[in-house]
Amino acid sequence: MSETFIPLCVPELRGNELKYLTQCVDTNWVSYVGAFVSDFEQSMARFVGTKHAVATNSGTAALHIALLVAGVEPDDEVLVSDLTFIAPANAIRYCNAYPVFMDVTPDYWQMDAGKVAEFLERECRVESGRLVNRTSGRRVSAIVPVHILGHPVDIEPIVTVARRYGLRVIEDATEALGAEYHGRPVGSLADLACFSYNGNKIITTGGGGMITTDNEAWATRAKYLTTQARDHGEEYIHESVGYNYRLTNLQAAVGLAQMELLPEYVEIKRGIAARYAEAFAGVPGITLPGEAPWAKSTFWLYTLLVEDSTDASARRAINDALTRAKIQARPLWAPIHEQRPYRDCQAYRIEVTHDLYRRGLSLPCSVGLSETDQRRVAAAVRQAVSVAHTP
Ligand SMILES: *Cc1c(COP(=O)(O)O)cnc(C)c1O
Repeated sequence: MSETFIPLCVPELRGNELKYLTQCVDTNWVSYVGAFVSDFEQSMARFVGTKHAVATNSGTAALHIALLVAGVEPDDEVLVSDLTFIAPANAIRYCNAYPVFMDVTPDYWQMDAGKVAEFLERECRVESGRLVNRTSGRRVSAIVPVHILGHPVDIEPIVTVARRYGLRVIEDATEALGAEYHGRPVGSLADLACFSYNGNKIITTGGGGMITTDNEAWATRAKYLTTQARDHGEEYIHESVGYNYRLTNLQAAVGLAQMELLPEYVEIKRGIAARYAEAFAGVPGITLPGEAPWAKSTFWLYTLLVEDSTDASARRAINDALTRAKIQARPLWAPIHEQRPYRDCQAYRIEVTHDLYRRGLSLPCSVGLSETDQRRVAAAVRQAVSVAHTP
């Protein structure tokens, strides 16, 4: 058994990364100022189809700033998906606002637009022009749909109901760069959107993020807040509390090279998903991830559901068997409303997220995954599933 380790999802640097980094080193432009930052921003704006893009040093920082720019204030409430990596909930708390957790749909596992509308209509009331949560008495000011695992949220009905009540919508598109909704790229579907270039995302800068928007005033405000809110060109005059959330020229150089590869990477990811779908077709005890007719998914993290008892023991046994075979797999996130920092926050009619957490398992799907390694993963999964389900 000398088989190599197959990681879940790792970077693939196969383009101009080193060439652009060398340019930074040769010219001494290695820090927060330099042409690669604006080139990378423009490249993202062009790809996503927004007028503006503002680079940040992480996706979480992008979310924090987007919420501030959207007008989220202390003691406000923000609706957010319950099934997600925890970052957007944390960003809401950085604004001293409170998340209200929303369920996802059982078909594509994304924020449930019907329940969002129902919550706003039944659980809130309009009070002197503000939408107020009847239970908490707090103002509801924004919605953060999270496009999880590379598949878009059915976002149009969410934007429509948000407009009716004067709420802002911020896409958490950190997991879905390259995905499309009715033929439109995610990141251009609401007021503002956030991206991440963490090492496990579809493209990486080592670490980094981006805010995209069509609104010039918001883009300007986002740049201002991410650069310590400096008001005066020459002198150090500040009217607001700012942040150092800047991306370096070195990171942006890698980002620009990765952007050149993005369309190809999306197709490679979709190819990996298609091969898994073929390998698992008709295998009892496995539910494949779906793709809505209105969606183009990147299948950023290829995730399937396994049959399980109520305690996730089968999913854990399958995961353990894969670990023994040197294959890295990973469960979905535990629902955020069950996590210690958020147990006291409101969660509205959550019926689906825990079940997906119990049964979900993400499989290796790096852009560089070879077909041989993928066959090894598929065989190990089929074997582990059949063992776990043998009474
Ligand atoms: C990756 C991710 C982020 C932010 O990531 P950073 O590591 O801060 O760049 C935010 N939200 C979700 C859903 C994510 O998966």
